Amino acid sequence: MKQSIETLSGIMDREIEKNPHSREIIGAFRPVLIARIRFLGKRKLKSIPLPGFDPIRFTGGVSLVRQLQFFSPDDPWREMVSAMTAAIKEGFPSLREDMDRLEKAGRKGVLDIFDYFRTFPDHGEDIIKLWSADLPASPQGIALLLNQLTRIVLERRRPDAVALIGDTEWKKGYCPVCGAFPTIALIEEKITRRWLHCSQCGHDWLFSRVICPYCEFEAQEGMDFFYVENRTQEAAFSCDKCQRYLVTLNRVSDLNDHELDVSALSLTHLDVIMQGKGFFPMVNCSWNTFEG
Ligand SMILES: [Zn+2]
Ligand SMILES: [Zn+2]
Repeated sequence: MKQSIETLSGIMDREIEKNPHSREIIGAFRPVLIARIRFLGKRKLKSIPLPGFDPIRFTGGVSLVRQLQFFSPDDPWREMVSAMTAAIKEGFPSLREDMDRLEKAGRKGVLDIFDYFRTFPDHGEDIIKLWSADLPASPQGIALLLNQLTRIVLERRRPDAVALIGDTEWKKGYCPVCGAFPTIALIEEKITRRWLHCSQCGHDWLFSRVICPYCEFEAQEGMDFFYVENRTQEAAFSCDKCQRYLVTLNRVSDLNDHELDVSALSLTHLDVIMQGKGFFPMVNCSWNTFEG
């Protein structure tokens, strides 16, 4: 699914119109999302062979990222870092110094960005802590950059990964490609299951509507959904067993293009409400972690 910068910009403008409070957060991420598309459009990232897929382990819940090597030391890390630090500086002025330090340390060879990807998805937090103290730079800034690099590489290699999976069964609430929990779900009238969307790699997969994706608790009575008054298209699913929530979009028509990453940004008021009620997101990401 190739997406143009104009299409994405139009989607962001429409989301801001629908949810004016999201102007600031979408404005911050706009240069970052555009830089991602632009970098992928340059085709600097090559496809790499992905041998070693075991369908039996996969069906047992071992995602592809734990079976195959998606990241290569030969990937153009410096160019990616340079493109994405520039975009983050534009969208997040408070992270300018952090980005300058990261970019410089990478360019001078003081810091090897690939260290984070060598053991991915393990030890990420330890590496961020270490770099944060060494540079120094804020852990939030480092995480934001690393998440963007992760997404670019996974986005590039996801089609090959999805082709490998074919119709092999996957019954988990976390992503079959990269193992992350979803950031947003989409319910369509035509299907009885729901789409879960992974913001770490961009993959969407179908999952039961009556089972909690996080703890697999099955509610016979149906799951709890929270709605903001008069807005039936936007909701938050919540599970009393694990205290997690998942922002959910009810799609009534297919008239407009959707981009679930942008939808997640435009619905952060639901994150605030649900966290205020004592629920936790299924995955922490750069836009749903609130301080204080
Ligand atoms: Zn994923
Ligand atoms: Zn649960």
